[in-house]
Amino acid sequence: MAQAPEPKDWIKGIHAYVPGKSSGSDGRPLIKLSANENPLGTSAAALAARAQAAVPSLYPDPDSTALREALGALHAIDPARIVCGTGSGELLTVSASAFAGPGDEVLYVRYGFSLYEIAARRCGATPVVAPDDDYGTDVDTLLALVSDKTRVVFIANPNNPTGSYMPREELARLHAGLPANVLLVLDQAYCEYVDPADDDGSLELAAAHDNVLVTRTFSKVYGLAGERVGWGTGAPAIVEVLNRLRGPFNVSNSAQATALAALGDQAFVAHSREHNRAVREHFAARIDALGNHGIRAVPSEANFVLVLFEGALTGEAAYNGLMERGYIVRWLPGQGLPHGLRITIGMAGQMDEIAAAIRDMAEAAK
Ligand SMILES: *Cc1c(COP(=O)(O)O)cnc(C)c1O
Repeated sequence: MAQAPEPKDWIKGIHAYVPGKSSGSDGRPLIKLSANENPLGTSAAALAARAQAAVPSLYPDPDSTALREALGALHAIDPARIVCGTGSGELLTVSASAFAGPGDEVLYVRYGFSLYEIAARRCGATPVVAPDDDYGTDVDTLLALVSDKTRVVFIANPNNPTGSYMPREELARLHAGLPANVLLVLDQAYCEYVDPADDDGSLELAAAHDNVLVTRTFSKVYGLAGERVGWGTGAPAIVEVLNRLRGPFNVSNSAQATALAALGDQAFVAHSREHNRAVREHFAARIDALGNHGIRAVPSEANFVLVLFEGALTGEAAYNGLMERGYIVRWLPGQGLPHGLRITIGMAGQMDEIAAAIRDMAEAAK
């Protein structure tokens, strides 16, 4: 009897990536603080370049040459060591497929970015999840789980959804503890939000070692999530294999042109970082003032805060209450965080309204 095509067993184990929502269950549009997008939008120079991009009938430059040269100039990296992706997500996914397969292990920390599990499973590798340290990443815990099957270690720094940050010394210690045949992927999607004085040294690790891939994105601080552009850098042998696995025309004309102009507007990046830091600090302080209600903010270096509800007001009730007040944030029961809401840092007035709403709901719940 004819049988329908069967996905591979390891593919069946994949749960689709769950994106942040932008409307409520009744379809009403909400203020979206669920996907860590830039509330300031996009640099005006980038928008102008987007309007001038090449006609859509033409294929884009398959190698994103001008963009890689500009990235190389800005970050002092040989452009031959840079690969662009359809978002950094494409590079994260192909990096697992390139270096791991059935029988191999891919290691990451609990409460890490949900794409890592998908990337591990789609190439048939076994995900290994290291326990967190109060929502942070602990180097010794990770190293203890490295086995002779480990092929790839994924670290997001700052981490999503916790916002926690590993300092430079810890990252260097993690790298030093890994066997040379294990690829360390340092996902820096939020690094531009970190004070430059606290740089984690990722690019230096990628420049100096043959087993480090750094990925960055235009989706967050650059305000280009809809254009789908990211990039990675590492040893030539790593970049070469990623170039063979990525889509051949993976970054569109408009994405290349817009990202190039966005990169040239570092004033917009600095302004976004400062705005985020000020609003985040104020918001986190207001949340931490609710400690008597069992509510706290995990310390964050990113453009979002993970708020924990460990008292009478539950994460689910807070999520629904914020939705009634017009805000969609990220409730994370599927990631083992039914008591957590990841809230993107928006404009100051919005964050004040959210903090006040959480306080009111907590008062009413006790
Ligand atoms: C948002 C995000 C990315 C970026 O994804 P893109 O594909 O570049 O849009 C990568 N890693 C983490 C941890 C993120 O939160």
